[in-house]
Amino acid sequence: MAEVKTPMSSKDQKHSPFESMLARFHAAADIINLDQRFRDVLSAPERTMIVNLPVKLDDGTTRVFEGYRVIHSTVMGPSKGGIRFAPFVDLDEVKALAGWMTFKCALVGLPYGGAKGGITLNPKVRSEDELERITRAYTRALKDVFGEDSDIPAPDMGTNNRVMAWIFHEYSRIFGYTPGVVTGKPLHLGGSKGRVPATGWGVMLTTMKAIERLGWKPSELRVAVQGFGNVGSWAAKLLQDQGVKVVAVSDHTGGVYSDEGLNVRELVRYVKGNGSLAGYSNASSITNAELLTMDLDILIPAAIENVINPSNANDVKAKLIVEGANGPISSEADSIIQEKGILIIPDILANAGGVTVSYFEWVQNRRGHYYSEEEIREKAAPIMSDAFDRVWDKREKHGCTMRLAAYIEAIERLATGIDLEGNF
Ligand code: GLU
Repeated sequence: MAEVKTPMSSKDQKHSPFESMLARFHAAADIINLDQRFRDVLSAPERTMIVNLPVKLDDGTTRVFEGYRVIHSTVMGPSKGGIRFAPFVDLDEVKALAGWMTFKCALVGLPYGGAKGGITLNPKVRSEDELERITRAYTRALKDVFGEDSDIPAPDMGTNNRVMAWIFHEYSRIFGYTPGVVTGKPLHLGGSKGRVPATGWGVMLTTMKAIERLGWKPSELRVAVQGFGNVGSWAAKLLQDQGVKVVAVSDHTGGVYSDEGLNVRELVRYVKGNGSLAGYSNASSITNAELLTMDLDILIPAAIENVINPSNANDVKAKLIVEGANGPISSEADSIIQEKGILIIPDILANAGGVTVSYFEWVQNRRGHYYSEEEIREKAAPIMSDAFDRVWDKREKHGCTMRLAAYIEAIERLATGIDLEGNF
């Protein structure tokens, strides 16, 4: 029996994530009158793979798990992108996420194309042993796709450095020691210092850049973070360190709120022990829906796609939205948010810190020379900061949103690459 797919609860029924991705791509392409041949190349993934993985469960029965790997583009280099374990994962979502990786890597200037993978499963109901067998089966099924010079996976929602260790080990069993085949590995197995906080750190950095450009004072600002996984919890913690007041955070069980500001470090410890925010008693309760429409300065959606969509976009009161997640605002909600005058720091810029540090992990693996956490920050910060500045300038040049400016910046780099390759 195959693992049953659960629809994403907040999925915008009208626009699928892939359609949302394409809508932005074409809107940006229209602004710069992008030649049709570049549109054609960039609007369809290069390779789409579906694998069926029979895996023995702990109770002795066998279940077939459906997995995907989509390589959207290899124009700028080997394809790069995470692997997602979630019950709602489907091909459409993985295609969208793969496209976003292409634009993200091109925007920040990493020598990578874009890819994404996923397996339809609920990691919360699977034992560690089952997850290991599923991951190893997935790695074997894609052994000729993955490679340090061809396609390099990483963590994403529902996966972590443990899962990356299994991929690394299974791949190396077949081809010999190859740490550069996957990033986001544990430190002991060739992982990089700073990779775990990297995405949340990039969210903090881009938020602080926006605060500076807007002339705001960090100590006067109230921020809420929707999603308290790796990205959201690090973003909250690091923003609190910058003096911004974190008034609300939430996860799949609901959220907590305090007008005085939450103690984020205590919340992180609580979630470590408890598994979720449920039952935390040092703050008031709030639902995810309430958090998204709270009176705030900054909202950071850091969970799943399309949480802000036409049904709630009108009620969003934040003045700045920083997209920690990939695709948290549906393309239809973009125009509503824009009309309200809310500034969006788009996903392909705001959450690029993860893949930027992944790049340095890959470089370290290939050179066999390892950097300190400080060196990683020193190398990654200018990359993120420069990308932010370029997008800000493009926004002013074209009089468009930060999102479309980010796409334009990425598309122009990709189009130049495609043109120079000249392989039509
Ligand atoms: N999954 C992360 C993302 O969406 C990281 C990808 C990577 O490190 O390759 O950006």
